[in-house]
Amino acid sequence: MSYNITLIPGDGIGPDITSAATKVIEHSGVKVNWDVQIAGLPAIEKFKDPLPQETLDSIARNRIALKGPITTPSGKGFRSVNVALRKEFDLYVNERPAKTFKGIKTLYDHIDMIIFRENIEEFYSGIEHYIDSSKSAAETIGIITRKGSERIIRYAFENAKKYGRKKVTAVHKANILKYTGGLFLDVAKEIALEYPEIEFNDKIIDNMAMQMVLNPYQFDVVVTTNLFGDILSDLASGLVGGLGLAPGANIGYDVAIYEAVHGSAPDIAGKNLANPCALILASCIMLTNLGEKEAAKKIESSVAKVIEEGKFVTKDINPVNHVGTNEITDAILREMDKL
Ligand code: NAD
Repeated sequence: MSYNITLIPGDGIGPDITSAATKVIEHSGVKVNWDVQIAGLPAIEKFKDPLPQETLDSIARNRIALKGPITTPSGKGFRSVNVALRKEFDLYVNERPAKTFKGIKTLYDHIDMIIFRENIEEFYSGIEHYIDSSKSAAETIGIITRKGSERIIRYAFENAKKYGRKKVTAVHKANILKYTGGLFLDVAKEIALEYPEIEFNDKIIDNMAMQMVLNPYQFDVVVTTNLFGDILSDLASGLVGGLGLAPGANIGYDVAIYEAVHGSAPDIAGKNLANPCALILASCIMLTNLGEKEAAKKIESSVAKVIEEGKFVTKDINPVNHVGTNEITDAILREMDKL
């Protein structure tokens, strides 16, 4: 069997890490016909459109995409392609696991938590404007709906049930944002009643940030709104060794797009310094969801072995003795051969 998967190399470090991820997937024996499409800066150069119709058609056709990061200019320029893709395909779940790897020096040595971030609503829906031509003030409208809250919270509980996780924590700011945060919290409490076997609690976002640093072991599954999820998942990746090890998945009813949590890292682009592991681990989530569990396990344990041995790791993991993107990828391929 072979899979048709849309491959979007993205920009910045994207082409390097997507090339690493496809090499590793091919090496696992899973057959993929990659349908390569462009988005972001390369698409603007070619089509004057950061998200060309051809790319959208390819994702709609294949229903699975592996995507490199895409730059979004801050404060001006085109709107986020990442946000547009999530809205276009109603990818309401953003799954972001954070797991410690042996061999990485971190504050904590056995973190294993998963953050489910609502991926469509609130401050990322793009409803914003300056109130006058002199830009004296600006307004962003963040809408939270009952339906949007219900489906992400239910997804988090269902995931906890499926994978034997014990606890779900809902994160919000319902003390201040009494309507939007309040709605999200009310829905979380209602849905929690349907899962009596899973412990449930809630935390206010500011306390949550502190608690995650003080004692991350108290968290198992975390479910939260879009902006808080974006920030907390970077915090979680910092706890397990940085963005180079943080995978993500955008999941809807019909389509899923797998990517790293990190962005296009313009500061290291084109320097053979990018850690491809986050996107490789995102590929493992993709393969698991496709039913290719053995291949996913083989890749994940090879990544873990390379990191644990520490001889062929990138600069973000070992700033003194490091190799490049290509060399860590080759080391992962060699580990896969041993299994
Ligand atoms: P970033 O995640 O690109 O980089 C933050 C820091 O982490 C940088 O120092 C970078 O060098 C480092 N880093 C990131 N990924 C790394 C990797 N794989 N290996 C080693 N080091 C890595 O965040 P940023 O600099 O704030 O954003 C750059 C651009 O990426 C922005 O335009 C932003 O909008 C975009 N972005 C895109 C996505 C996406 O495509 N899903 C996600 C986040 C940010």
